[in-house]
Amino acid sequence: MSAVVNPQAAAEQNGAGADGKIAVENPATAEVIGYVDDLDGAAVALLVEQARAAQPGWEALGFEGRGEAMRALRSWFVANRKRVIDSLVAEGGKTPEDALLADLWYICDSLGFWAKKAKSYLADERVRSGSPFMLGKRIFVRYRPLGVVGVIGPWNYPLTNTFGDAIPALMAGNSVVLKPSEITPLTSLLVAEGTAAVGLPDGVLSVATGAGETGAALIDSVDMVMFTGSSRTGKKIMARAAERLIPVSLELGGKDPMIVLSDADLERAANMAVQWAMSNSGQICQAVERVYVEEPVYEEFVTKVVDKVGRLRQGAPGAAGAVDVGAMTFPPQVEIVERHVLDAVDKGAQVLVGGKRAEGPGRFFEPTVLTGVDHTMDVMRDETFGPVLPIMKVRDTDEAVRLANDSRYGLNSAVFTRDVAKGEAVARRLDAGNACVNDALINYLAHEAPFGGTGESGIGVRHGPQGIRKYCSQQTILVTRFGPKREPTMFPNRAWKAKLFERLMVALWGRRRSRR
Ligand code: NAD
Repeated sequence: MSAVVNPQAAAEQNGAGADGKIAVENPATAEVIGYVDDLDGAAVALLVEQARAAQPGWEALGFEGRGEAMRALRSWFVANRKRVIDSLVAEGGKTPEDALLADLWYICDSLGFWAKKAKSYLADERVRSGSPFMLGKRIFVRYRPLGVVGVIGPWNYPLTNTFGDAIPALMAGNSVVLKPSEITPLTSLLVAEGTAAVGLPDGVLSVATGAGETGAALIDSVDMVMFTGSSRTGKKIMARAAERLIPVSLELGGKDPMIVLSDADLERAANMAVQWAMSNSGQICQAVERVYVEEPVYEEFVTKVVDKVGRLRQGAPGAAGAVDVGAMTFPPQVEIVERHVLDAVDKGAQVLVGGKRAEGPGRFFEPTVLTGVDHTMDVMRDETFGPVLPIMKVRDTDEAVRLANDSRYGLNSAVFTRDVAKGEAVARRLDAGNACVNDALINYLAHEAPFGGTGESGIGVRHGPQGIRKYCSQQTILVTRFGPKREPTMFPNRAWKAKLFERLMVALWGRRRSRR
């Protein structure tokens, strides 16, 4: 009901700005490339009702049946890779390389991973209790699907951070209603085409296109919300979900620090900083947003970074290999990036490369390197989410750690040093959900390892066992096979029973070093 599956045809049918439709723009060319419905609360409620009706049949397929469907979908993605990449490039303004590796590759890997691992991650777990009251009893924990999961996603990774979170929810036996960003909804409609093509039962996965209000309406009827987006919206989501006391998992913004110690491989550190500050025009939740470099190697590091950033090719993405940095997807984001750079310059920062909007009918901001920065500047404190790399000189490791932790965010972080033990020790001191030593960001691709934020970067994790258990309710079952007719803890109360338990207590814990 939400789907305008062919955006071009829809554009012709509906005409520009047709009522109740959202126009989708190519950020690199400023052309309108399609329209989608802006669903209201009643339409969203209907989608959730259909999802609820479809869920028991989907759950009954079991892990094998659902896994088969996920593998079939993976084959569909591989066969339709050109259409999927074209859609991601067109609505996101990103390079085809980013679309291929960060979106499509991730999704294909994810489909296979959850198809394989869901069963073992959600298997019943035996609990062994040391309580004397549990003698002769068997306890285990089981996981069962919550029902209908609402997945609300952002515009920077329209596959990975939208459908990507639906995959474990589906493998757990839930049905899912996806609410993609209104800025990049077209690829999710392709996903719906794919799920239909491989025979996923109607209602198991549906797409609710629309703006923020559509997302808000979804929270009013689903059983759980998986949200990826800004910290500001994350707080609203949690408040609304609290009205119904439904669980939420929030993957929010970041201001990820990189620390470069004086014994680091500077060439590798500089390449990493440039790659992960500028990739997807810096529109990555775990982009390198600030770098702290120890004094002895500061000049050399800055020289390397400036040289590398200066050689980046920016422009409207064409064929693979044509440009390194594409467009800015979300119109207001260009203003935020510009404001951060101007604020830094006003307060004394130097622009060594870039520093302004780039020419073009679309939206671009030049890859930018700033030095002379400090923590009075927005660019060091607030999420910039653009191709801007501020580099700050620090006296020593302690100062680097203190500044890295001077943030309300805590998503990813990185430290570079040839002394791996020292790197690990520094990583342990960083207030972030994730930390890399001599690496950055790539940890996201390890589906086995939990990924999540602290502070305003979120609540909950994706990936690893927790990444699928969060889509389940947990039930603890206790089974007594051979029980006496009456247990000592039962009525009637008697003095001898109280005495017995008192003695037992003293025997168990009367000495300081007891076993339990
Ligand atoms: P956003 O918060 O503006 O919007 C995200 C989604 O929420 C969109 O689909 C939007 O329509 C919807 N929405 C808006 N208001 C809503 C409301 N009141 N109720 C329900 N839904 C509502 O975020 P964005 O600008 O699309 O994405 C960029 C942000 O996402 C950045 O802060 C980035 O760091 C973050 N992000 C985080 C991760 C992560 O894994 N931690 C990954 C990607 C992006």
